[in-house]
Amino acid sequence: MSKNQKFETAAIRQQLERTAYREHSNPLFLTSSFTFPSAEQMANTFAGQTEDIIYSRYSNPNTDELIRKVCTLEMAEDGFATASGMSAVFASMAAFLESGDHVLSSRAVFGSTHQILTQILPKWGVSHTYVDPDQIDQWEAFIQPNTKMLVLESPSNPGLRLVDLEKAGALAKKHNLIFNIDNCFATPFIQQPTKFGADLVVHSGTKWMDGQGRVLGGLVVGKKELIEKVRFFCRHTGPAMSPFNAWLISKSLETLAVRMERHCQNAQLLAQFLEGQPAVNKVFYPFLSSHPQHELAQRQMRFGGGLVTFEIKGGVPNAMAFLNKIKLCSLSSNLGDTRTILTHPTSTTHSKLKEEERLAVGITPGLIRISVGLEHIEDVIQDIEQALE
Ligand SMILES: *Cc1c(COP(=O)(O)O)cnc(C)c1O
Repeated sequence: MSKNQKFETAAIRQQLERTAYREHSNPLFLTSSFTFPSAEQMANTFAGQTEDIIYSRYSNPNTDELIRKVCTLEMAEDGFATASGMSAVFASMAAFLESGDHVLSSRAVFGSTHQILTQILPKWGVSHTYVDPDQIDQWEAFIQPNTKMLVLESPSNPGLRLVDLEKAGALAKKHNLIFNIDNCFATPFIQQPTKFGADLVVHSGTKWMDGQGRVLGGLVVGKKELIEKVRFFCRHTGPAMSPFNAWLISKSLETLAVRMERHCQNAQLLAQFLEGQPAVNKVFYPFLSSHPQHELAQRQMRFGGGLVTFEIKGGVPNAMAFLNKIKLCSLSSNLGDTRTILTHPTSTTHSKLKEEERLAVGITPGLIRISVGLEHIEDVIQDIEQALE
């Protein structure tokens, strides 16, 4: 971010060069390819001598504008926009990892990231070791001579456990590892991992960035020389973000700060409400003083985030009964929407994991994840209260 522009301003005051119409809002460039005024210029562009846009699998004015904005907000040098969060996660790994390489990863990663690490990368001879997010002082012992990348999420899904980003950055630096963090749950408004030495920051634009449950998208941003490799990988394997989705997500980022402030304020109130409920065993929210890493949360996050998880007493049967009584809120596996969404990770997002794998990342049978929306929080609390009875 430029030194004199605050986050909110940078998210709003970025403009594509205006066309002859002098439009106020950025126009949408729905075109697969671009033309050249001469054969020489076309040849020069293909030779890499000019920066002209060639083809939307490579780049497009709308995806370029979104990338610039996310780089500004994440304080990153360069980036690439992909069709989904998972294509961003995959590209951030596949662009670097070679047969024989090893990844040190937090155990608490997104379900499909877990599938990439355990089912897909091993096919190409890439191995991994899982470590506990809240035990970072023990991670160093698991670094091997062939460890190339450090992968983590903070806060994690769905347990909302944190990794100490300062320590993660120091460890990656000491052992020359690529520090790759999925910052989807926090968003750059709440936490900017590059400040702690992250080399690659990955996002699902599908979640809080769009924030309205409309499109899929992903981004990888980070150090310029690393993004060169991500760009090469993506340009030739083809997971480009559609210009329409880039246009929409960029527009949504204009309101990211105000939306996240309210999401977090609502989440904080809901977490406090849940803590006092007799049907509830435990509530997890980084900015509750009962969170085991509360002090760390306050050090590295601006707010507690828009997700709250809690454990209902009575395991799966009570979790199902509770969800069936929900009237206003939505039952869905998504998150980061204006609408409050409830999920039961054991039977949905994490059902492919073995029971012991789930328990190792804190997914107990009664765990419910709530993505807190922008409805009036009293209406949300009332809905959850009547369902808990
Ligand atoms: C949703 C999500 C992803 C995947 O994003 P898609 O856009 O659904 O592909 C990756 N990481 C985290 C933390 C997510 O919440």
